[in-house]
Amino acid sequence: MSQQPTPILEIHDLEVHYGAAQALFGLDLTVNSGETVALVGANGAGKTTLLKTVMGLLRPSRGTIRFAGRDTTRLSATEMVRCGLALSPEGRQLFGPLTVQENLELGVLPLKLGAAEIRTRLEEIFALFPRLAERRRQQAGTLSGGEQQMVAMGRALMSKPQLLLLDEPSLGLAPLITDTIFAIIHQLSRSGVTILLVEQNAARALEASKKAYLLASGRIVHQGDSDRLLADPRLRHAFLGAGSDEQPEKSRLGAAGLTNIRLEKPDMSNQTFMPPFKDETELKAHQLEGLKWTVNHAFNGSSFYHSRLEEAGVTPENITNLDDIRRLPFTTADDLRDGYPFPLRAVPFEQIVRIHASSGTTGKRKVLSYTQKDIDDWVHFFARAYEMAGVTPLDRVQIAVGYGVWTAGMGFQLGCEKLGALAVPAGPGNIDMQCQFMLDFQSTVFCATASMALLMAEEIHKRGIADRINVNKIIYGSERSSVSMRKKISELFGGAELFDIPGLTELYGPGTGIECREHDCIHYWADYYILEILDPETLEPVSEGEWGEMVVTTLCKEAAPLIRYRTRDITRIIPGRCACGSLLPRHSRIRGRSDDMIKFRGVNIYPSSIDAILSQIPGLGSEYQVHLTRDEKSGKDHMRLVVEQAEGSDSQRRMELSRESVHQIKHQLLVSCEVEIAAYGSLPRSERKSQRIFDSRIKDEIVG
Ligand code: ZN
Repeated sequence: MSQQPTPILEIHDLEVHYGAAQALFGLDLTVNSGETVALVGANGAGKTTLLKTVMGLLRPSRGTIRFAGRDTTRLSATEMVRCGLALSPEGRQLFGPLTVQENLELGVLPLKLGAAEIRTRLEEIFALFPRLAERRRQQAGTLSGGEQQMVAMGRALMSKPQLLLLDEPSLGLAPLITDTIFAIIHQLSRSGVTILLVEQNAARALEASKKAYLLASGRIVHQGDSDRLLADPRLRHAFLGAGSDEQPEKSRLGAAGLTNIRLEKPDMSNQTFMPPFKDETELKAHQLEGLKWTVNHAFNGSSFYHSRLEEAGVTPENITNLDDIRRLPFTTADDLRDGYPFPLRAVPFEQIVRIHASSGTTGKRKVLSYTQKDIDDWVHFFARAYEMAGVTPLDRVQIAVGYGVWTAGMGFQLGCEKLGALAVPAGPGNIDMQCQFMLDFQSTVFCATASMALLMAEEIHKRGIADRINVNKIIYGSERSSVSMRKKISELFGGAELFDIPGLTELYGPGTGIECREHDCIHYWADYYILEILDPETLEPVSEGEWGEMVVTTLCKEAAPLIRYRTRDITRIIPGRCACGSLLPRHSRIRGRSDDMIKFRGVNIYPSSIDAILSQIPGLGSEYQVHLTRDEKSGKDHMRLVVEQAEGSDSQRRMELSRESVHQIKHQLLVSCEVEIAAYGSLPRSERKSQRIFDSRIKDEIVG
């Protein structure tokens, strides 16, 4: 993603006339190598004129066209094919009496190839379009519209172009066939073919492309990343022009085919779930109001909090500024378990509309109650999480997390529907079905635990289906996510963007923050809760930017408010504003839990630190286990790591990898250990959290 884009087509100040009539006005446009760029606009906007000019079929009256680094402004169409350009024209333009194969062969006519090379290329085209293979001897004129479109695209691909110009591929096709054609375009795009796509159906074109230009009356009126354009209210304005909401078909938007999608609904295209605050001062004022409300509500509504606050000598009147939060008593997971089945309840039962519970296996579950407003708030900020990740109403979100009494599935589902995207409630597990759904529904967003995402990534790789799926974003629950694991998941998913989404049942559920597209830590919703970072042992605040335990206080939670709830999650605040511009503050990815922390020979070690070190060693995989034992006689602790080699890494290197791991751990964590390198795939994988720490020492050594 950080790779510098190489322009393959650069158009500058292009003007084209048909006789005295001007068709294009000073157009600038760039297509980078490997990109799919859409050119959308109404009939007569100048799209086809532009393509024909690039192809050498029309002469510009002004401006330059550079293709693959050279000036091609004055070249003919035949010369352009030799330069590596191919056009699949509007209306297909096949030779009806010729067979499918003969039509395809026309695509390489200007290249003067040998018969053997032509045969090889034909087989490649037939592999891409199996339907054409069955009909290779059939006359092109007798094919269906969709099949004719495949021949036109295949003919253009025969020349192995550096840039494929696709003019109105879906024109006149039934919706089902259009789906097939776009699936092929997507597949071409994933396999690295650079495409300039001209389409009247703007929604489909934007969905299929990375970048888009909006053309109206021979001018470019808007350009940008396609997914952002889809979500951007300015797109509406740019396209609606003289049209109105009542008569969308009269508008340029209507003519561009954008009226039949949900984007057209005003509340969906203009919606945002971001907070309205202008600056940090406004946010802090909101937090103080929320804190006062919460303490008052808890004091008067909950017998548990009433006695806790009384013990601490605090009444609601004592809260006059944000620092007063430090006078408040802590709440812990034990308080929740002790209050089973309705802990912390601060409203009468008739106001509770739902309960959720944690999936905890030991002791009683943590159960949380919700009022309708609690649910609405949760759904609102979950939609915000999707918005921050760039998910739009046109996305298809495959939700592979647990549905049931726990919060995960429900949160992902309701947030997705609130945003207006299409939800595929797949649930966890069932790898076969997940693959099938990705292929058939062309899901664009995949939500899962990190372990499940890795499992899916490996499966997609194994089945060789990466270029037939369409997942471009992975939203994974805040579990363990080392750099190498993220990199591997992204790569095996064909370059998908990863977003870490934290959350916990006590605090509504998942979605309490998310990574933004800068991927620099996690924005959290400071308008819904206050986050303190405290030293887990002294419970005093750490200095800014230091690691410590996350302690949360809710600002508007009704049924089960949280006052200084000790989450046990270890993180830190990232000082300063994010490059994305959001004023919502950030914390680091969760580094571990204060109760997961290993105390080994006087050193505090978080599993994530081991992750980080192993990630830096080339040749190691992402799976590992830590075994801690104690020698009965000497009382000395011993640490042994079992680490998988990377897939395809040379087994001869095991000794060397082991030595390097021992050295790095000694160097960075200041502890000695033994490292055993295991074969790739030999450690157990799990769809849920994989167990990595096996501690057989006396338990009270672990900080609780
Ligand atoms: Zn950001």
